[in-house]
Amino acid sequence: MFGVRSKGCYTLSQMSRLSFYNLNLQELEQALVGRGKEKFRAQQLFRWIYGQRVTDFSQMTNLSKVFQGEMAELLDLTLPEMVTERISSDGTRKYLFNMGDSQLVESVLIPSDDRLTLCLSSEVGCNMACQFCYTGKQKLKRRLTAGQIVGQFLQVSDRLPEAQRITNLVFMGMGEPLDNPEAVFRSIEIFHSTWGLNLSRKRITVSTSGIVPLIPLVTASGARLAVSLNGVNDEVRSQIMPINKKWPLEELLEACRVHCRESKDKVTLEYVLLKGVTDSIQDARDLHRIAQSVPSKVNIIPFNEHPGSGFHRPDEKAINAFHNELMRLGTHVLRRKTMGRDILAACGQLATNPDARPRPRAKTQPEATL
Ligand code: SAH
Ligand code: SF4
Repeated sequence: MFGVRSKGCYTLSQMSRLSFYNLNLQELEQALVGRGKEKFRAQQLFRWIYGQRVTDFSQMTNLSKVFQGEMAELLDLTLPEMVTERISSDGTRKYLFNMGDSQLVESVLIPSDDRLTLCLSSEVGCNMACQFCYTGKQKLKRRLTAGQIVGQFLQVSDRLPEAQRITNLVFMGMGEPLDNPEAVFRSIEIFHSTWGLNLSRKRITVSTSGIVPLIPLVTASGARLAVSLNGVNDEVRSQIMPINKKWPLEELLEACRVHCRESKDKVTLEYVLLKGVTDSIQDARDLHRIAQSVPSKVNIIPFNEHPGSGFHRPDEKAINAFHNELMRLGTHVLRRKTMGRDILAACGQLATNPDARPRPRAKTQPEATL
């Protein structure tokens, strides 16, 4: 069997290879030292692979041929398969990935004036069962590995034209990031480390539905915190977000306050406007009061409809009235622009329907000989 490379059948070396994109610096160093290699080689490999995006070991010209061969046997550089890429009329791009066994997730790339934001998925499906969320309708099927999270970023950024760079990352795709903390925080370490992808921690945001005991992990990671508030009291919030029964509103807000104190940062309060459920003027006033009690800014997100949800998007008049009331009261508030609606890439619309082929990866230049 071994030595034959066909579906479901792998060579011995493939079976024992380490998934490179799952590793941090210390782990790669340990793996190398354990095989009698010099520790500093780990830094060299990270520089080639993350810094230069050279993924063919034979092009890593400061490594000997023998070492190149050994690394090809030790390290697996396979990225998650990009199944489709769809482009919205507003420039938003939605990518569908196969994470193995046809388990599909999506990432969304959102351009705006001064930034290019990639919205990452952390899980296939989600167990939090928020009533208004399309992902929540699909029970948790799998938690992604750090390598599969980093892989979404690499697959997308490798396809960008030379002049474009992803500037911001948000864990607002499919899944609840704090339900998969090991992989999410490991990926954040890879994203922000200088040996990794070297993105500023302050440009990485973790959005949670409110797994209160794990919020300190966001603080410790240095990433920014967003919380899906969505209800201004326990009654409404428990009705639309079952997690509120476990960690009610006041506990969530207290955890946010602690995060703000320790990170010296603000938290983003995400608030989905559901017609007749969360969109009254009194709700806006209560939301203002809550926003005053935590260093925060509010993002209002008009509900994006999906079949069978049982909820509706308020009309523009009601959305504007809600927004205006918050502004009148002096709340720091932004209405989140609905991006990619025509390709079902807007918040809470992430579906998994392959219907366009991805573009080929951009070519990378090998680093000069050192
Ligand atoms: N699980 C995390 C992150 C993914 S959801 C969380 O819940 O925070 C990202 C955001 O999309 C959340 O703020 C959620 O409230 C919002 N959302 C989910 N479904 C939506 C829908 N149909 N319309 C608008 N926003 C939605
Ligand atoms: Fe899960 Fe977030 Fe959707 Fe709730 S809103 S079901 S936590 S992905």
